[in-house]
Amino acid sequence: MSCEEDQKREGQFHRMREAIQFDREKCIACTACVMSCNKVGINFLKIKEEGGKKHVEYNCDSGVDCIYCGQCTFLCPVDAIYEQKNIDEAERALRDKSKITIVQMAPSVRASIGEEFGQPPGTNVQKKMYTALRKIGFDKIFDVTMGADITTYTEAMELADRIKNGGVMPMFTSCCPSWVKYAEFYHPEIIPNLTTARSPHIHSGGAYKTWWAEKEGIDPKNIVVVSLMPCTSKKYEAKLEKLKIDGVYPVDIVLTARETADLLKKHNIDLMSLEESEVDSCGAFSGAGIVYGAAGGVMESALRSAHYFLTGEEIDQIEYKDVRDSEGVKKATVDIGGKKLNVAVIYLTKNAVPIIEEVLKNPKAYDYIEVMACPGGCVGGGGQPKPTNAKIIAERKKALYHIDDKTKIRKAHQNPVVKEFFEDYLAKLPKEKSSSIIHTHFRKREKFE
Ligand code: SF4
Repeated sequence: MSCEEDQKREGQFHRMREAIQFDREKCIACTACVMSCNKVGINFLKIKEEGGKKHVEYNCDSGVDCIYCGQCTFLCPVDAIYEQKNIDEAERALRDKSKITIVQMAPSVRASIGEEFGQPPGTNVQKKMYTALRKIGFDKIFDVTMGADITTYTEAMELADRIKNGGVMPMFTSCCPSWVKYAEFYHPEIIPNLTTARSPHIHSGGAYKTWWAEKEGIDPKNIVVVSLMPCTSKKYEAKLEKLKIDGVYPVDIVLTARETADLLKKHNIDLMSLEESEVDSCGAFSGAGIVYGAAGGVMESALRSAHYFLTGEEIDQIEYKDVRDSEGVKKATVDIGGKKLNVAVIYLTKNAVPIIEEVLKNPKAYDYIEVMACPGGCVGGGGQPKPTNAKIIAERKKALYHIDDKTKIRKAHQNPVVKEFFEDYLAKLPKEKSSSIIHTHFRKREKFE
C-alpha cells in the first residue's frame, strides 16, 4: 500500500509516536502547523491539494521524519494537533494506593506555568508548584533539576575524558530527544559524537528508582515517576526500551506544562493563592541545573564542572555569558584550565545543518556543541503554555538565570545529593550496572521509529 493510501486508511488520527496527535477531522487546513514544521527545518507536515480542496498530510519521502518537538502544536486555531494526553494515567497513579508517586518538574516549567494562572511570563512559581503537587496527592516532590545535575556530572566527566584521552570530538549534547532523533535519523554519521549521558528526567527517574528506592526499601516496580516537562518529545523518549533499568522504565508518565496546568485546574488548585514550600530533600539541585531550561544552559553547566574534572580546581568565574542569548547559533572560545575550547550553541535543528557539515569536513573546528530543537531551548519547548513567542521566551529565560544567580550552590558536582548518588552509590556498583543507570547509546533510526 502506498504511503498516501496508508494515510487515507489511518482514519481520524495520525500519531507521531507517543508524542503528538493530529486530528484530521478537526483540521481546517490553515497551514499554521505546516509553517512551524518548516521553520524548525523538518517539513514532515505538508499541505496537499486534491479536487480543489486542501488538507494537511505527512510527508511520504522516506528521508523525512518527525522529530516530535511539538512546535506544530502552538499555533493551531482549532486544536487539531496537540500532545498525546497522559493526564488520566497520572490521575490513575495518584488514586492507586499501592504505588508511591514521585513528581518531578523540569527547570523551565517553573518559569512558564504561572502564565496558565494569569501571571506574566517569567514569574517563578517553583515553590507554589511544590505545594500544589503535594496538595493533589503526590507522595514525593522531587525535581528534574536534580537530574540535570546528574547529567552535567556525567557529561562533564565524559567531555574531560574525551579531551584527555583523545576520544571522538567534538562532543555534542544529547539531552534534547528531538535533537537526538534528528541526529539518529538525518545524520547517523555523528552518533559517535553524541554524549552518552542520559537526559535529566531519565537520570533523576533512574536515580529515584535505584539509589533512592534501595535507601527507602521500596520495590522500584511500585514507584510511579511523573515528569512535568516543557516538551512533547519527552513522551517519546520516556518510552524508549533501551532506557529501562532492570526491566523498569525510569519515567512512567510525562505531562507537558499545558497538561500540568490542566491537571491542577481539574483539582481546583488556585496556584497563586498557595503558600510556598520546599522540594523534598532528594530533589535538591544547583543553579547549574536550573539554566538547563535555556539554550546555552547545558553547555554552561557542563563547563562549570568540566573545569573541575579537567584541572582538579574550582573556577570562581562561573558565568559563561559568551554562550548565552544565542540567536540560533552562537560560537565562542572558552578557556578551561589554560586549554582553549571552541564551542557552539545551537537551537532549531535547521541551524545545526551548517555546523554538522563543518564538523564532518573538519572535526577539529569545535570541541563541544549544544543543540536544542526548540527556539531558545526548552523555555520555547513544544509543551509550554500558549502563546509562546520570542518575547515570552526571553522573559522565561531571564527568570531561570535569576534563580541560578540566587542559588547558593551553582555547580552540579557540588550538589550534595548528586555527590551522594555518585560517590556512595554508583561508585560501589559494578561498572556495567552503574553505566546502565547513567549512560545510553544511539543508533540509526528509520522513518516512524
Ligand atoms: Fe524538548 Fe527542550 Fe528539545 Fe524542545 S528543546 S524538544 S522542549 S528537550
